[in-house]
Amino acid sequence: MRYVIIGGGVAGTTAAGELRKLDSSAEITLISEEQHPLYSRVLLPHYLLGKVERDRVFLKKETWYAEQEIEWLRGEMVTVVNPRNKFVGLLSGREIEYDKLLITTGGHPRVIDEDLRGVSYFRTLDDADHMNQLFLGRGSNARGGIYGGGFIACEYLNLFAHFKIPTTLAHRGAHFWTRVLEPVSGELIAKHLTDQGVEIHANAPLQGLEGDKELTGFVTSKGRHEASIFGVGIGVAPDLSWLAEAGIETGFGIKVNEYLETNIPDIYAAGDVAEYFDTILGRQLNIGNWTNAMSQGRVVAKTMVGERTAYEMVTSYAMNVLGLDMIFIGDTLKAVADQVCLIGSIETGGITQVHERDGRIVGGVCLGRNTDRGAITKGIKEKTPASEIINTLSG
Ligand SMILES: Cc1cc2nc3c(=O)[nH]c(=O)nc-3n(C[C@H](O)[C@H](O)[C@H](O)COP(=O)(O)OP(=O)(O)OC[C@H]3O[C@@H](n4cnc5c(N)ncnc54)[C@H](O)[C@@H]3O)c2cc1C
Repeated sequence: MRYVIIGGGVAGTTAAGELRKLDSSAEITLISEEQHPLYSRVLLPHYLLGKVERDRVFLKKETWYAEQEIEWLRGEMVTVVNPRNKFVGLLSGREIEYDKLLITTGGHPRVIDEDLRGVSYFRTLDDADHMNQLFLGRGSNARGGIYGGGFIACEYLNLFAHFKIPTTLAHRGAHFWTRVLEPVSGELIAKHLTDQGVEIHANAPLQGLEGDKELTGFVTSKGRHEASIFGVGIGVAPDLSWLAEAGIETGFGIKVNEYLETNIPDIYAAGDVAEYFDTILGRQLNIGNWTNAMSQGRVVAKTMVGERTAYEMVTSYAMNVLGLDMIFIGDTLKAVADQVCLIGSIETGGITQVHERDGRIVGGVCLGRNTDRGAITKGIKEKTPASEIINTLSG
């Protein structure tokens, strides 16, 4: 059996390792646009904060691939999938045949129109190395700018604070995560950040950058803001353009069922690129977190060798921004909830959102209330009525 995997992140590399365990005679090819062996994106901020050595970010050694008899094509980009003749085409011109194909190409950061020295994105190890250079090169007069109101914006906030760089943050929406958080939850985060000395501008779309080669500032609808380092964190979206001709069904991501199978036989998708049917939540979902990507890599390998296995898991994304703990669990989109109940308040320094659909809890957000996590996760898994969970969480 000849397995081909596109994308060498955690989903693809985990799947490759599992396939080898499950089928010792299989031919496995892993095609990866990046040059590095698997590394942890989760550890990248820790590397920049000096808490983890660069070497410790890597989760696989370069020798692992050959030891596992996995053909590792690094620095190669797949541009064509041909399901009729069962091959993929690389940018370099090479064609590789497959019996079963797994797509784990993750998400690409959304970009702004302009670029100057000092502008940074945060997705890859190369991005982190670039940022390291920026921090080293900017000296004591550095001024930080951030555009965005999500996870990557929070990573930039922690980094700028660590390097004692005064920071201005602007975002387009009324508050952080407008599609997820209720206004009062957004207010809690904004108050926390402002209390920590961050200058925040809400409802402030970016109008442009200032500077000649080197960045000196950025302009939003709220005015001009000084910045010598500018972190852009306006979300990620999968690039699906190269899949259009293959007839693979896509929405926000590649549509797959609970077995991570696409609409085309012998083609599968997993990780951040997949929009999978979640049997616990009862809807098609696209999730961008590490545990989800790794677990899907593991599960899809089983299905690919013939042990058809459904993916079932309640995943969460936890992070801390300038001392405030935040946990997002399950289905947190407000648009698909019937009701969002709030526990706690700005005054007490913590708010938990309980998201309810069809009478049961489907998601939750804990801001400064870590202890609510267990009950929410269990409740989602066991399809418990939201009211029962709310009663167990103290006000
Ligand atoms: C800075 C940072 C911090 C994070 N922190 C956390 C955290 O604390 N907790 C958490 O749960 N999650 C965190 N995440 C998110 C988590 O890292 C991702 O959800 C996870 O890495 C997704 O894995 P993946 O394998 O699906 O995709 P990716 O890791 O994106 O890997 C996809 C790979 O495919 C390659 N590729 C794309 N297109 C092609 C092509 N056409 N041909 C060949 N190769 C291609 C890409 O270059 C990439 O290397 C963080 C992410 C970042 C960037």
